[in-house]
Amino acid sequence: MTPPDGTRIQRALDTAHAAHAADWGGKNADYIPYLASVDPGLFGLAVATADGELYETGDSGYAFALESISKVFTLALAMEDVGPAAIRKKVGADPTGLPFSSVMALELHGNKPLSPLVNAGAIATTSLVRASTREERWARILRTQRDFAGRDIALSDEVDISEQRTNAHNRAIAWLLYSADTLYSDPMEACEVYTRQCSTLVTVTDLARMGATLAAGGVNPFTGKRVVRHGNVPHILAEMTMEGMYDTSGDWAYVVGIPAKSGVGGGVMAVSPGNLAIAAFSPPLDVVGNSVRGGKAVAQIAIDLGLSLYVTPERRE
Ligand code: GLU
Repeated sequence: MTPPDGTRIQRALDTAHAAHAADWGGKNADYIPYLASVDPGLFGLAVATADGELYETGDSGYAFALESISKVFTLALAMEDVGPAAIRKKVGADPTGLPFSSVMALELHGNKPLSPLVNAGAIATTSLVRASTREERWARILRTQRDFAGRDIALSDEVDISEQRTNAHNRAIAWLLYSADTLYSDPMEACEVYTRQCSTLVTVTDLARMGATLAAGGVNPFTGKRVVRHGNVPHILAEMTMEGMYDTSGDWAYVVGIPAKSGVGGGVMAVSPGNLAIAAFSPPLDVVGNSVRGGKAVAQIAIDLGLSLYVTPERRE
């Protein structure tokens, strides 16, 4: 598949930015104090293509907390380590139908998280990353984020401290998993490293490049480095389709038709396989946790560029 031409991509970005910049719907996440303090007016968009072109508009240089989008990259690493069959068996590949931090979802499914993209499944996935120490686990996860972006992504101590101090609910989830034998390392280590992986800072152009690495079948098109085994990419994208946009992932598939993942920091990353990735950042979130401006803009760009995976060529009768 050839990505659309550059002028068309830039026009789609600029049009979507203009259409949604004045949308003041939603509210910053406030259960993590740092996130509540980010300027709600920030709004950036970017596209990175599978052949290494980059387009951007708005606040594309602002670095924000990666949050839940980190789950995709840790999933990719754990899948490299243990293989897609083990991920499916131990974590799962279905939507939970419940909020991302739900304990009830665990109770309902025999303590199997169902998805690596909800908190329980992400903590379990972090525990599956091959490592003999906490520092090794963290170093491998950070290296993976950097390889996806092709740049030295860094941890924000400010975000990390804000999250580690307020993550009692995630610690409870980790202990619950551990008590049911569905966690594969020390529970507090897994939870701490998971919290750190959420606390790195990225720009919307980083996020677009990270998505483009998936769009290009696991090779970062900007550095040429293979980051993910080619055969694992479809499984990662399938997980994104099922749960990436929280409990509105089905609606997203229905309307937009490409896998995406959002985070409570206001980021959204959508992947058109073989083609390009779209990234957005804007802090105010809707009730399920998706960036309001980000979700609307990414949807508009994907529709504008005709990216839905479910469209077939029209046939005459
Ligand atoms: N660090 C956040 C948490 O664990 C990430 C949630 C998200 O972005 O969905 O609650």
